[in-house]
Amino acid sequence: MITIALSKGRIYKETLPLLAAADIVPADDPDKSRKLILDTNHADVKLLIIRATDVPTYVQFGAADIGVAGKDVLLEHGGEGLYELLDLKIAKCRLMTAGLIDPKPRLSGRLRVATKFTNVAKRYFESRGEQIELIKLYGSMELGPIVGLSDLIVDVVDTGNTLKANGLKPVDHIADISSRLIVNKASMKMKHDNICSIIDQISSAVA
Ligand code: AMP
Repeated sequence: MITIALSKGRIYKETLPLLAAADIVPADDPDKSRKLILDTNHADVKLLIIRATDVPTYVQFGAADIGVAGKDVLLEHGGEGLYELLDLKIAKCRLMTAGLIDPKPRLSGRLRVATKFTNVAKRYFESRGEQIELIKLYGSMELGPIVGLSDLIVDVVDTGNTLKANGLKPVDHIADISSRLIVNKASMKMKHDNICSIIDQISSAVA
Protein backbone atom coordinates (compact mmCIF):
# COMPACT_ATOMS: atom_id res chain seq x y z
CA MET A 1 0.00 0.00 0.00
CA ILE A 2 1.20 3.51 -0.87
CA THR A 3 -0.57 6.42 0.82
CA ILE A 4 -0.25 9.95 -0.57
CA ALA A 5 -1.27 12.95 1.56
CA LEU A 6 -2.33 16.21 0.01
CA SER A 7 -4.66 19.14 0.66
CA LYS A 8 -7.80 20.22 -1.21
CA GLY A 9 -7.86 23.29 -3.44
CA ARG A 10 -4.97 24.69 -5.42
CA ILE A 11 -2.44 21.98 -4.51
CA TYR A 12 -4.88 19.16 -5.29
CA LYS A 13 -5.86 20.65 -8.65
CA GLU A 14 -2.26 21.27 -9.71
CA THR A 15 -1.05 17.87 -8.45
CA LEU A 16 -3.73 15.86 -10.34
CA PRO A 17 -1.98 16.02 -13.75
CA LEU A 18 1.33 15.03 -12.10
CA LEU A 19 -0.31 12.02 -10.43
CA ALA A 20 -1.94 11.13 -13.76
CA ALA A 21 1.54 11.05 -15.30
CA ALA A 22 2.36 8.35 -12.74
CA ASP A 23 -0.92 6.59 -13.75
CA ILE A 24 -2.58 7.50 -10.43
CA VAL A 25 -6.17 8.67 -10.90
CA PRO A 26 -8.47 9.30 -7.89
CA ALA A 27 -11.84 7.57 -7.92
CA ASP A 28 -13.60 10.57 -6.27
CA ASP A 29 -13.43 14.35 -6.46
CA PRO A 30 -12.63 15.71 -2.95
CA ASP A 31 -14.72 18.84 -3.69
CA LYS A 32 -17.79 16.62 -4.15
CA SER A 33 -17.04 13.83 -1.68
CA ARG A 34 -16.77 14.05 2.09
CA LYS A 35 -14.37 11.13 2.18
CA LEU A 36 -10.97 11.80 3.71
CA ILE A 37 -9.43 8.69 2.11
CA LEU A 38 -9.85 8.52 -1.65
CA ASP A 39 -9.45 5.30 -3.61
CA THR A 40 -7.55 5.45 -6.89
CA ASN A 41 -7.39 3.31 -10.03
CA HIS A 42 -4.85 1.15 -8.12
CA ALA A 43 -6.16 -0.93 -5.21
CA ASP A 44 -2.86 -0.36 -3.37
CA VAL A 45 -2.66 3.44 -3.77
CA LYS A 46 -4.82 5.74 -1.58
CA LEU A 47 -4.98 9.51 -1.23
CA LEU A 48 -5.44 11.20 2.17
CA ILE A 49 -7.18 14.58 1.91
CA ILE A 50 -6.01 16.67 4.86
CA ARG A 51 -5.19 20.25 5.86
CA ALA A 52 -2.12 21.64 4.11
CA THR A 53 -0.34 22.31 7.41
CA ASP A 54 -0.89 18.70 8.54
CA VAL A 55 0.73 17.06 5.47
CA PRO A 56 4.33 17.07 6.85
CA THR A 57 3.09 15.63 10.16
CA TYR A 58 1.33 12.68 8.49
CA VAL A 59 4.46 11.98 6.43
CA GLN A 60 6.85 12.47 9.37
CA PHE A 61 5.02 9.82 11.42
CA GLY A 62 4.55 7.44 8.48
CA ALA A 63 0.75 7.79 8.42
CA ALA A 64 1.35 8.73 4.78
CA ASP A 65 4.29 7.50 2.69
CA ILE A 66 4.29 10.46 0.31
CA GLY A 67 2.97 14.02 0.65
CA VAL A 68 2.62 17.18 -1.35
CA ALA A 69 3.28 20.28 0.76
CA GLY A 70 4.14 23.92 0.15
CA LYS A 71 7.70 24.97 0.99
CA ASP A 72 6.16 27.55 3.38
CA VAL A 73 4.52 24.73 5.34
CA LEU A 74 7.76 22.69 5.28
CA LEU A 75 9.86 25.63 6.51
CA GLU A 76 7.43 26.13 9.37
CA HIS A 77 7.28 22.38 10.19
CA GLY A 78 11.07 21.97 10.16
CA GLY A 79 11.20 18.89 7.89
CA GLU A 80 12.00 16.34 10.61
CA GLY A 81 11.49 12.64 9.66
CA LEU A 82 11.00 13.24 5.98
CA TYR A 83 12.87 13.66 2.71
CA GLU A 84 12.05 16.57 0.42
CA LEU A 85 12.71 14.87 -2.92
CA LEU A 86 11.18 16.92 -5.67
CA ASP A 87 10.24 20.52 -6.43
CA LEU A 88 6.88 20.15 -8.22
CA LYS A 89 7.10 23.78 -9.41
CA ILE A 90 3.37 24.32 -8.71
CA ALA A 91 1.51 26.73 -6.38
CA LYS A 92 4.39 29.19 -6.62
CA CYS A 93 4.47 32.30 -4.44
CA ARG A 94 6.82 34.14 -2.07
CA LEU A 95 7.08 34.23 1.70
CA MET A 96 7.48 37.89 2.62
CA THR A 97 7.29 40.39 5.39
CA ALA A 98 4.70 43.10 4.76
CA GLY A 99 3.69 46.34 6.43
CA LEU A 100 1.46 49.37 5.96
CA ILE A 101 1.85 51.33 2.70
CA ASP A 102 1.98 54.43 4.92
CA PRO A 103 4.01 53.18 7.90
CA LYS A 104 3.10 54.41 11.39
CA PRO A 105 5.53 54.80 14.32
CA ARG A 106 6.53 51.49 15.91
CA LEU A 107 3.90 50.17 18.35
CA SER A 108 6.36 49.34 21.13
CA GLY A 109 10.11 48.99 21.79
CA ARG A 110 10.42 45.72 19.93
CA LEU A 111 9.15 45.21 16.39
CA ARG A 112 5.81 43.38 16.61
CA VAL A 113 5.28 40.69 13.95
CA ALA A 114 1.97 38.85 13.51
CA THR A 115 1.97 35.60 11.54
CA LYS A 116 0.96 31.96 11.37
CA PHE A 117 4.58 31.24 10.34
CA THR A 118 6.03 31.84 13.81
CA ASN A 119 9.03 29.48 13.44
CA VAL A 120 9.97 30.99 10.10
CA ALA A 121 9.57 34.54 11.42
CA LYS A 122 11.61 33.79 14.55
CA ARG A 123 14.50 32.33 12.51
CA TYR A 124 14.35 35.09 9.91
CA PHE A 125 14.51 38.00 12.35
CA GLU A 126 17.11 36.20 14.52
CA SER A 127 19.32 35.80 11.43
CA ARG A 128 19.12 39.58 10.99
CA GLY A 129 19.96 40.15 14.66
CA GLU A 130 16.57 41.76 15.26
CA GLN A 131 14.66 41.11 18.48
CA ILE A 132 10.92 40.89 17.84
CA GLU A 133 7.69 40.32 19.67
CA LEU A 134 5.85 37.47 17.89
CA ILE A 135 2.07 37.28 17.73
CA LYS A 136 0.61 33.96 16.54
CA LEU A 137 -2.41 34.26 14.22
CA TYR A 138 -4.26 31.58 12.28
CA GLY A 139 -5.44 33.69 9.32
CA SER A 140 -6.31 37.16 7.95
CA MET A 141 -2.88 38.38 8.99
CA GLU A 142 -3.32 41.50 6.82
CA LEU A 143 -5.55 42.96 9.56
CA GLY A 144 -2.67 43.04 12.07
CA PRO A 145 -0.96 46.29 11.01
CA ILE A 146 -4.29 48.00 10.17
CA VAL A 147 -5.80 47.62 13.63
CA GLY A 148 -2.55 48.24 15.53
CA LEU A 149 -1.95 44.62 16.53
CA SER A 150 1.45 44.43 14.83
CA ASP A 151 3.98 46.49 12.88
CA LEU A 152 4.61 43.78 10.29
CA ILE A 153 3.20 40.46 9.15
CA VAL A 154 4.87 37.43 7.57
CA ASP A 155 2.68 35.82 4.90
CA VAL A 156 2.69 34.21 1.48
CA VAL A 157 2.27 36.65 -1.39
CA ASP A 158 1.38 35.81 -4.97
CA THR A 159 0.15 38.80 -7.00
CA GLY A 160 0.28 41.16 -4.00
CA ASN A 161 -3.39 42.08 -4.57
CA THR A 162 -4.52 40.95 -1.11
CA LEU A 163 -1.86 43.12 0.55
CA LYS A 164 -2.70 46.11 -1.65
CA ALA A 165 -6.46 45.78 -1.06
CA ASN A 166 -5.73 46.09 2.67
CA GLY A 167 -3.36 49.06 2.50
CA LEU A 168 -0.23 46.91 2.88
CA LYS A 169 2.91 46.44 0.78
CA PRO A 170 5.52 43.68 0.63
CA VAL A 171 8.71 44.64 2.47
CA ASP A 172 11.35 41.88 2.60
CA HIS A 173 11.58 38.61 0.67
CA ILE A 174 12.12 35.59 2.94
CA ALA A 175 11.86 32.63 0.53
CA ASP A 176 10.55 31.52 -2.84
CA ILE A 177 7.74 28.99 -2.34
CA SER A 178 6.46 26.09 -4.44
CA SER A 179 4.98 22.70 -3.63
CA ARG A 180 7.39 19.87 -2.82
CA LEU A 181 7.02 16.11 -2.91
CA ILE A 182 8.02 14.70 0.47
CA VAL A 183 8.57 11.09 1.53
CA ASN A 184 8.65 9.38 4.92
CA LYS A 185 12.21 8.21 5.69
CA ALA A 186 11.23 4.64 6.65
CA SER A 187 8.86 4.29 3.68
CA MET A 188 11.72 5.29 1.38
CA LYS A 189 13.65 2.22 2.63
CA MET A 190 10.76 -0.26 2.93
CA LYS A 191 8.86 0.67 -0.26
CA HIS A 192 11.84 1.95 -2.23
CA ASP A 193 10.99 0.54 -5.69
CA ASN A 194 7.31 1.58 -5.67
CA ILE A 195 8.03 5.06 -4.34
CA CYS A 196 10.95 5.66 -6.74
CA SER A 197 8.82 4.57 -9.69
CA ILE A 198 6.12 7.11 -8.75
CA ILE A 199 8.71 9.84 -8.17
CA ASP A 200 10.48 9.16 -11.49
CA GLN A 201 7.24 9.46 -13.44
CA ILE A 202 6.18 12.63 -11.62
CA SER A 203 9.68 14.07 -12.06
CA SER A 204 9.48 13.53 -15.85
CA ALA A 205 6.08 15.23 -15.92
CA VAL A 206 7.46 18.23 -13.98
CA ALA A 207 10.42 18.51 -16.38
P1 AMP B 1 -2.23 37.43 -3.67
O1 AMP B 1 -3.35 38.39 -3.39
O2 AMP B 1 -2.25 36.95 -5.12
O3 AMP B 1 -0.88 37.98 -3.30
O4 AMP B 1 -2.50 36.13 -2.82
C1 AMP B 1 -2.31 36.19 -1.45
C2 AMP B 1 -3.12 35.21 -0.68
O5 AMP B 1 -3.46 34.05 -1.42
C3 AMP B 1 -2.28 34.76 0.50
O6 AMP B 1 -2.64 35.46 1.64
C4 AMP B 1 -2.56 33.30 0.61
O7 AMP B 1 -3.61 33.08 1.51
C5 AMP B 1 -3.01 32.88 -0.76
N1 AMP B 1 -1.96 32.27 -1.61
C6 AMP B 1 -1.52 32.73 -2.78
N2 AMP B 1 -0.63 31.90 -3.32
C7 AMP B 1 -0.50 30.87 -2.48
C8 AMP B 1 0.25 29.65 -2.49
N3 AMP B 1 1.05 29.34 -3.51
N4 AMP B 1 0.15 28.84 -1.44
C9 AMP B 1 -0.66 29.14 -0.44
N5 AMP B 1 -1.41 30.25 -0.36
C10 AMP B 1 -1.35 31.11 -1.37
